[in-house]
Amino acid sequence: MSVPRPYSPRTLAAQALGHIDNATGGLVPPIHVTTTFLRDPDNQYRRGHVYGRPDNATIREAEAIIAALEQAAAALLLGSGMSAATAVFLALKPGDHVVAPSVMYWALRNWLITDAAEWGLRVDIVDTADLVAVRAAVRPGETKLVWLETPANPLWTITDIRAVAEIAHAAGARLAVDSTCATPLLTRPLALGADIVMHSATKYLNGHSDVVAGALVCGYEDAFWDRIKRGRGMRGQILGPLEAFLLIRGMRTLALRVPAACASAMELAVRLSNHAGVAEVLYPGLPTHPGHAIAARQMQGGFGGMLSIRLRDGEAAAIAAAARTGLWKRATSLGGVESLIEHRGSIEGPGSPCPLDLLRLSVGIEDVEDLYGDLDRAMTAE
Ligand code: PLP
Repeated sequence: MSVPRPYSPRTLAAQALGHIDNATGGLVPPIHVTTTFLRDPDNQYRRGHVYGRPDNATIREAEAIIAALEQAAAALLLGSGMSAATAVFLALKPGDHVVAPSVMYWALRNWLITDAAEWGLRVDIVDTADLVAVRAAVRPGETKLVWLETPANPLWTITDIRAVAEIAHAAGARLAVDSTCATPLLTRPLALGADIVMHSATKYLNGHSDVVAGALVCGYEDAFWDRIKRGRGMRGQILGPLEAFLLIRGMRTLALRVPAACASAMELAVRLSNHAGVAEVLYPGLPTHPGHAIAARQMQGGFGGMLSIRLRDGEAAAIAAAARTGLWKRATSLGGVESLIEHRGSIEGPGSPCPLDLLRLSVGIEDVEDLYGDLDRAMTAE
């Protein structure tokens, strides 16, 4: 008899793991809002819930779905992507050395070089796409964590997760990957050797721009994971149950939204490469992108819904083009069903590797002809 195949991520997400509410038979899980739980008469808490800061059934439902999507040993939800990322760094000890990428989510890079350094972490920022640079930065016995983001904001730099995992592990360090833009559908960093994966669940996992949330998953539960979990509970870096419910609802359509965004992003990347107003398109799906070969290997089913364009006429032209779009909304964030355009240099500020002529595009699920037409008009209008 053949062994049944485990359900695919698409199936698991669509049914939110298929859990049925015990009390009512409801197909949609209830939102658990209680902050406190009844003790057993003999003073125990056998049902595993004591107090709302660490314990919430709606949060656990959402965590179970994310763990299943990443095929992880465990998942934790936190109040935002930044909250999730900082929880990992704060589980280290002052004096520990960490390596992080020069191209990454700007607020986390700023936090690492200011607050985290002040708190005692020794932080080296390197181009993680350059394995020679990673090897030179990692210090055997001293480096405790290597952090990656791939594809990385806002240049969509690709890092070889498997190669960096080998370098990190050989030095006794863990590897954590911000996989927000890859989503659990396009890349599974744990299978490539990462120890921890982080998502800003505000983006693709939720997908509707109405929840701020963060997620962590691990390949195995150990003392470091326990420290992260304890830190979340102690510092109260938690998500509310209403947000967890919206996140569960959003994840049901992840496997429809992400391929749609990837297909449109690829088409826009090709068409924009031939646009007179565009000097360069940054998208890992294009063979001209420096990370294309690695992306083709470590991403399945698409190269993501994010791309950036550099305008031939510079910063002022980029800001003016963004001002003229109608369909593309001029807003930060990414990964929602609606397409967003952003002059990224205005938000990242000094010290950012982002060129000032760059517009970042988060491709939604609208008709690609409408999206291209709106951009074309915005770039060609005088
Ligand atoms: N990582 C990436 C790649 C992001 O784009 C963002 C937010 O834009 C974050 C982390 C931080 O997530 P949050 O805004 O949910 O704190």
